[in-house]
Amino acid sequence: MEDATIPESHPRYWSLIKRRRIVEGYRRGIVVIDGLISHGRGEAIDYIIGEVTHQPALEAAKAATASLLTASRPVISVNGNSAALAGGLIVELAAITGAVLEVNLFHWSAERAYRIRDHLMELGAVSVLVPDGEEKVYMEGLKSERGRVCRNGILAADTVLVSIEDGDRTEALRAAGKRVLAIDLNPFSRTAQRANVTIVDEIERALSNMIRLSRELRDEKKEELLRIVECFDNALNLSEMIGIIRDRLGLMAGLEGCEDYD
Ligand code: ATP
Repeated sequence: MEDATIPESHPRYWSLIKRRRIVEGYRRGIVVIDGLISHGRGEAIDYIIGEVTHQPALEAAKAATASLLTASRPVISVNGNSAALAGGLIVELAAITGAVLEVNLFHWSAERAYRIRDHLMELGAVSVLVPDGEEKVYMEGLKSERGRVCRNGILAADTVLVSIEDGDRTEALRAAGKRVLAIDLNPFSRTAQRANVTIVDEIERALSNMIRLSRELRDEKKEELLRIVECFDNALNLSEMIGIIRDRLGLMAGLEGCEDYD
């Protein structure tokens, strides 16, 4: 059991555990207070989709994994919420795909960035870039300290995986010519709409699927992986996820003609 004070039989066990991780991350100086608000927005949508991975999200996870495996310079961007909720899975995915880990913060502070780096190193990361000192450069399209990225990380990347991010970063990354893969529970967000591949799923489930898929796909021929990437249609995938949300809301409201996805 992960936490003795929350019984596993509690119907909202995992949701409460995730809240606990975010609050703990805040206390440790990894998560900022605004991160609690972002978490609440995601949690509300996860509640509606039934806290499970739906088929379109699994397909998006496959396209995102194939994108990472075929990228020349893949980078996984890590912020406070993603580190607190799923640091270990992020480290594992980077190790399997060969992606570089980079700390990227909306609310920059060197202290917090290095805390997140140390947290990932404790979880087994070999190296984690921080946009500070020699590495620091500023990306166009992002104001002030939010534009910090690493010279040998995101600046040089062709593909970037972001999660629990705001839309400005995704837009700036796209404008800089990067392929953006996003994990975001909100299919209506700017991040979800602007990314090349959006996985509408909770970060822990999405990363677990990507790790399993990386193991399955890493020995595939490059042509097959590129085929998976090319066949993926993000707009269609998002509309399927929105359809699932509509149907689940319809079911909750007792409306007829709504599909059950359980
Ligand atoms: P945008 O600027 O892209 O429209 P936003 O204003 O919603 O997004 P934030 O609140 O900064 O931006 O981003 C947080 C996003 O992450 C939200 O869309 C939220 O649904 C999503 N999110 C929060 N927690 C999780 C989680 N655990 N797993 C996946 N997504 C999450």
